[in-house]
Amino acid sequence: MWNFIQKPVTVLLAATVVTGSPQNLRRGAIHDCLSAAEIPQEIPGTDNWTQAIKPYNIRLPFTPVALAVPETVQHVQDAVTCGRELGITISARSGGHSYASHSLGGEDGHLVIDLKLFHDIKLDPETGIAQVGPGARLGNTALALWEQGKKAISHGTCPGVGVGGHVLHGGYGFSSHTRGLALDNLVAADVVLADGSFVTASANENCDLFWALRGAGASFGIVTKFHFQTFDAPEQIIIYSHDLKWQTKDAAITGFKALQDYTNIQPTEMNTRLLIASGYFVLSGVYYGTQEGYEAAIAPLLEKVGTPTNSSVQNLAWIDSLRANAQEPLEMPLDYDYHSNFFAKSLMTRWVTDEAVEKFVDYWYDIANSSSILWFAIIDLHGGVNSAITKVPHNATSYAHRSATLKYEFNSLVFPGETYPENGIPFLNDFVGTITETMKNETIGMYVNYADPTLTAEQAHKVYWLDHYERLAEIKEALDPGKLFENPQAILSPET
Ligand SMILES: Cc1cc2nc3c(=O)[nH]c(=O)nc-3n(C[C@H](O)[C@H](O)[C@H](O)COP(=O)(O)OP(=O)(O)OC[C@H]3O[C@@H](n4cnc5c(N)ncnc54)[C@H](O)[C@@H]3O)c2cc1C
Repeated sequence: MWNFIQKPVTVLLAATVVTGSPQNLRRGAIHDCLSAAEIPQEIPGTDNWTQAIKPYNIRLPFTPVALAVPETVQHVQDAVTCGRELGITISARSGGHSYASHSLGGEDGHLVIDLKLFHDIKLDPETGIAQVGPGARLGNTALALWEQGKKAISHGTCPGVGVGGHVLHGGYGFSSHTRGLALDNLVAADVVLADGSFVTASANENCDLFWALRGAGASFGIVTKFHFQTFDAPEQIIIYSHDLKWQTKDAAITGFKALQDYTNIQPTEMNTRLLIASGYFVLSGVYYGTQEGYEAAIAPLLEKVGTPTNSSVQNLAWIDSLRANAQEPLEMPLDYDYHSNFFAKSLMTRWVTDEAVEKFVDYWYDIANSSSILWFAIIDLHGGVNSAITKVPHNATSYAHRSATLKYEFNSLVFPGETYPENGIPFLNDFVGTITETMKNETIGMYVNYADPTLTAEQAHKVYWLDHYERLAEIKEALDPGKLFENPQAILSPET
């Protein structure tokens, strides 16, 4: 059943004589092993090392035991063999945007395999299939697909996010209601497994692995290349935003319910999100169609959420719409050096009860609006009757939230140079708790791409993967029994 191509890898384990702490001994041994296999690496103590291990979320720094920067698939295979033979846990890093710094391990002492040099993007104009390296960033990928053939895939809005982690755990953006998640565009992936073998996973080859990769990829291997079925980028699309004013709690309750109800009628072509912060509400999105089509589609929602105080509706070329929604250039440098200091949580709800909506709005108006904490929340109309995400059968991929109508990100952050406040985490936990505590008997998920490091492994397994966890655990046992690819919330983590 496990029809993997076995390719023996021999790595010379140099007999290193290093004195000092166990940490130094491990560091010396892994350094020697990577060097013997001629794999480029950053050397601890150097400026390059300090820069290389700086996470996107600087609230969560971790120190790896080594950081390899492979140039070839053979390097990745050899680095995996080094880690396995020395008993060192491995984490892959692509764009480094993990909210929980999981690509640094989510704890100290991992071998990090940084795929930043795997950033090629090549479109086959005949088949429309694009080969994309995991280290490519979303902005550069969108630009390359557009320039090479006016093609696109579905993905998130921020240009700096890496393709690797994004695709392997979902990949939601302003085309997802129309075109699905980034992982729904995936037709195959090339992967280095824990035993060092190099395989391709697709619907016809290594199918269990392919299923697992599309929702829980970090636990199963290191993807060195993605193969996406692209679609024709639309020539023109509508992007819109409407500032709302919900001055009372009643208005906010009505507005929230209207959003949820809209998932029953929202046309496939419409993509909608609500951004909220203290006293700030923006309804925005993208419509794949004409201005007339957009006006007809949005009318039933606008009727219920109140007249906007300010509106913008633009007809843009595809690539310009991505630029406008990103609010920054799509071109991202190889030596990417952007950081933030934040804590975030997520929710994936099927149907929020009236009681939970009221508790949520109470917290929002009575506590959050007057808090000194800098926060925002984004509520996406992820699913519903006409959503391309919902139309994919629940068991087709390991992504477990096909039935979620709304997807939420709750985020609290500080400006550069400030310290993240102690009450920031309980503040967001309580905000999310207004829904989870009120709806204890309902299925409520969380999105692993917004990894919440305060969840225990058991909690994380349950909310990220719902009823798919058991099958994921079986596949993990078969492919990576030694739990080489690990982080504090990975499949089968910790010891079970
Ligand atoms: C500013 C910002 C904006 C975002 N916007 C969106 C959005 O619009 N929509 C959305 O859905 N998400 C969004 N996210 C979340 C984002 O999708 C996840 O953080 C994603 O995992 C980042 O991928 P990465 O490659 O940059 O991260 P990394 O930190 O490199 O990786 C994340 C996880 O994937 C694993 N991994 C990475 N590469 C590989 C590989 N090649 N093989 C196996 N495992 C691998 C890592 O070990 C780690 O566990 C955003 C995040 C940030 C910080």
